[in-house]
Amino acid sequence: MAKVMDQQPASLDVARIRQDFPILARTVGDKPLVYLDSAATSQKPRQVIGAITEFYERHNANVHRGVYTIAEEATALYEGAREKLARFVGASDPACIVFNRGTTESTNLVAHAWGRKFLREGDQIVLSMAEHHSNLIPWQFAARATGAEVRFIPVAEDGTLDLSELSSIVTERTRIVAVTGMSNVLGTLPPLAVLSEAAHSVGAVFLVDGAQLVPHARVDVEATGIDFLTISGHKMLGPTASGGLYGRRDLLEQMDPFLGGGEMIREVWLDHATFNGVPGKFEAGTMNIAEEVGLAAAIDYLEGLGMDAVREHEKQLTAYAIGRLVEAGATVYGPRDPEVRGGAVSFWYKEVHPHDLATILDQEGVAIRAGHHCAQPLMRILGVPATARASFYVYNTAEEVDALVDALGKAEDIFG
Ligand code: PLP
Repeated sequence: MAKVMDQQPASLDVARIRQDFPILARTVGDKPLVYLDSAATSQKPRQVIGAITEFYERHNANVHRGVYTIAEEATALYEGAREKLARFVGASDPACIVFNRGTTESTNLVAHAWGRKFLREGDQIVLSMAEHHSNLIPWQFAARATGAEVRFIPVAEDGTLDLSELSSIVTERTRIVAVTGMSNVLGTLPPLAVLSEAAHSVGAVFLVDGAQLVPHARVDVEATGIDFLTISGHKMLGPTASGGLYGRRDLLEQMDPFLGGGEMIREVWLDHATFNGVPGKFEAGTMNIAEEVGLAAAIDYLEGLGMDAVREHEKQLTAYAIGRLVEAGATVYGPRDPEVRGGAVSFWYKEVHPHDLATILDQEGVAIRAGHHCAQPLMRILGVPATARASFYVYNTAEEVDALVDALGKAEDIFG
């Protein structure tokens, strides 16, 4: 494979995009920062940082409470963000978006407010073996509380989900199928329409962990038949603690509130209360207002680039990175074909433990993640305690992949 891709992905003007991200201009020691950990959290463009600053400088007030001008402005910005996020994931009704801190909180919300209400002893919850702990632990809690059983779709040798036994895993007793939209370890993109169909054919609901998918590919909940979609704004150029849950409206309406407190109520007596409609009954207390306003700016930014161009850029960069890593002697986990995977690339480099590797790479300015990636069951399947992981986003370049591979050579000199 040529050292630098013959052509930069034509789809995005990455040099221009990089100008929007102040952090990418900094150095680590005397080396330029090469940020390859966007699967953990993405960097933020000036447009997002500016939207948060402007909110605090001009519009800051609590929402849905005050009748004065800036309170109404804050409410309009917050509700405008809800409309934007709904449109971004293909939801025609903004009330189907519940704001919260992101994927972990959203999965817990569903496992609690839907799971505790609708799961019974002997019911089945179907997950995959490639789930992040945030789409596993809440279901373990729900199973323990209700007597339901958790079952798993296995991972095939090539890192895709093995759907060969799907019809015996998803049964008449299955109440929910909850899978990752994109594996944060293997990059795998499961066939969501197939899984949705399997869930719906037995009357189960279908949840997609969108933490990695929503930032990187076009998502249409209605066209794909997704009943719940979890969204982490901080992985899609937005602030930390932004994002939330898409839920089919009838399901959200049937569910009981998750957290109790101010704003989620209709009327309160000393011994009981009635609750707001959706989404208000799931938004207790003062919400993450500035964060969701920042997320709206992130969505504007991504829409300005075009999600098809975002995906195309990542496909090209991922193919290039996998090629170069394999050529350098790394073991790469997950499917090779960029059509069925995203840009989170896990690998093990020769005899160097991932933690040592990440430390040496840091000295070269290259930021990658090393560890179990909150997916310990998957690590056991791969037969490793940890992996190194490079992950890409709109601001990454082929030269940064080359910097990663060059730095691997330094690690080998030290540990080899
Ligand atoms: N699911 C996947 C696939 C993830 O990669 C992550 C975070 O890395 C999460 C869930 C949890 O997301 P958050 O920490 O934003 O709640």
